[in-house]
Amino acid sequence: MPRARRNRDRLKQVANWLRASYPTPYPVELYIGKLSLPNRPIEHGGDCTRVHKGRRRYLLVRIEERLPRGDAIFYLLHEWAHAHTWACDAIEKTRAMHPDEFWLALGRMYRDLYDVEDDEDPTVDFPW
Ligand SMILES: [Zn+2]
Repeated sequence: MPRARRNRDRLKQVANWLRASYPTPYPVELYIGKLSLPNRPIEHGGDCTRVHKGRRRYLLVRIEERLPRGDAIFYLLHEWAHAHTWACDAIEKTRAMHPDEFWLALGRMYRDLYDVEDDEDPTVDFPW
């Protein structure tokens, strides 16, 4: 499938791939919108939180829409790694925000998406 041209569509494409490849313990809702004040530098690129509305529980992944494409995709991978490794509340309250399993998941996603081998320099020619 060709890469979508618009950043928003590309983020949705990558999110669909993540949904299929990196399951999460709760459904993930993706929000692409304004997370920082308008006309100000971007201070917040994205986040992942658990939402509990009535009987419905899901993870909300938010990405700042003003980010350049490569940064937005990287934020999406980062936040999805949180979603993929999300644990029960008791564990989430006590463990580090970025535990080892988070970095392992993020590394796997990154390698899968960009098809990067261990001996390659991923900073060369990013295929966003
Ligand atoms: Zn994080």
